[in-house]
Amino acid sequence: SRAEITYFGAGPAALPTDVLEAASKALLDFNGTGLGIAEHSHRSELATNIINEAKADLANYLEFSPENYEVIFMQAGGTGEFAASVYNLVGAWVSRQQAAIKNELGDSADEEAVLAALRKKVETELKVDYIVTGGWSLKAYQEAQRLLGPEYVNLVADARTINDGKFGKIPDESTWKLSKDAAYVYFCDNETVDGVEFPAFPSILTPDANGNGPIVVADMSSNILSRRIPVNNYSLIFFGAQKNLGSTGVTVAILKKSFLPPHTVQPSAPLLRKLGLPIPPIILQYEIIAKNNSLYNTLSIFDVYIAGQVLKKLLKTYPDKVDGQQAVAEKKASLIYGALEAHPDVYRIVPDKSVRSKMNICFRVTKNGNTDETEKTFLKAATVLGLTGLKGHRSVGGIRASNYNSIPLEGAEKLAKFIDDFAKAP
Ligand code: PMP
Repeated sequence: SRAEITYFGAGPAALPTDVLEAASKALLDFNGTGLGIAEHSHRSELATNIINEAKADLANYLEFSPENYEVIFMQAGGTGEFAASVYNLVGAWVSRQQAAIKNELGDSADEEAVLAALRKKVETELKVDYIVTGGWSLKAYQEAQRLLGPEYVNLVADARTINDGKFGKIPDESTWKLSKDAAYVYFCDNETVDGVEFPAFPSILTPDANGNGPIVVADMSSNILSRRIPVNNYSLIFFGAQKNLGSTGVTVAILKKSFLPPHTVQPSAPLLRKLGLPIPPIILQYEIIAKNNSLYNTLSIFDVYIAGQVLKKLLKTYPDKVDGQQAVAEKKASLIYGALEAHPDVYRIVPDKSVRSKMNICFRVTKNGNTDETEKTFLKAATVLGLTGLKGHRSVGGIRASNYNSIPLEGAEKLAKFIDDFAKAP
């Protein structure tokens, strides 16, 4: 039964049982309306209220200002956001360059001259920067190459080059090859497959005292809501809901409002065509989705409702908001890592200590010189105790314990005890 299981799957992840209980009622009959939450129109007032409350609660919990940041709900998945970030931030770059050229050439400049200058800028100056620290930032980097062409995509650092071709470390910032004035710098804050998490916001990307700095994009699909983040350092943060926020099917973008009208207007399709740049599908244009309060097309209000309930629960549980959850996440992670470290003869933690993820704890298990068989035995014995979802990602193997917010402290304690018992058993 549900009560007997602690599920450590990497996503979709377990959701709080009380949220699911409320949701199961809401599916049948939402607030006595006789109609379920998945049946109500996405254009109803009730749907708008759900969206607006979830937006406000997210800003409240993460402590960012809704004056400066827009929250957008989409259905793109983290993978769709790999593409959306390219389209929208390259579009913003084009708009800025166009304004600068017009400014330089004066009001009387003819359209052809502006276009020629813009073309030249694209050819000589357009760069997007990627820091590759694991499987997901690698995928995002490859998507940018595919959409834009590799000539525009700069690999700032590849973590595999300092770790025998494998992920598990983050190269020192002094070795990063950042472009001058990149359209954006991209990184994945927590690599779900590889168990690598940035210990803090990279200092080399930190804005100066006047708030000027690089345009930073982060994928926080697997660690959002688990730690305090300096939202003001980012231009765009995105994440799929299915780990710490809610059910699969809704993806969130937190976007600095300066990238939206009236401050920034995305270039038209004909202009992009003339510049040889990709034209975004309308459903990936933040400007369009934001203008329609995430309702440009049919959004799954059920998924937004679940996310909203999870946020309400977090706000109720932790008076000090994300700091409260962060303290618990750190405690759980240190219990599990501690149990692993106590038996170095049996367990090998995959990532370097300095970049260990608090959310996805990746390790190998070896006894009598045998890893594969031992890991199978480990997984079987864990399952018997109700500790499930521990198998590592198919691309890297091993064991992965995903320590998301819905894992209770007792769940982490149970896993830590099992890790200890398994090592001691003959
Ligand atoms: N980024 C990260 C860090 C992820 O963990 C995942 C999915 N596990 C994705 C992106 C891709 O998300 P989706 O499957 O929703 O496209």
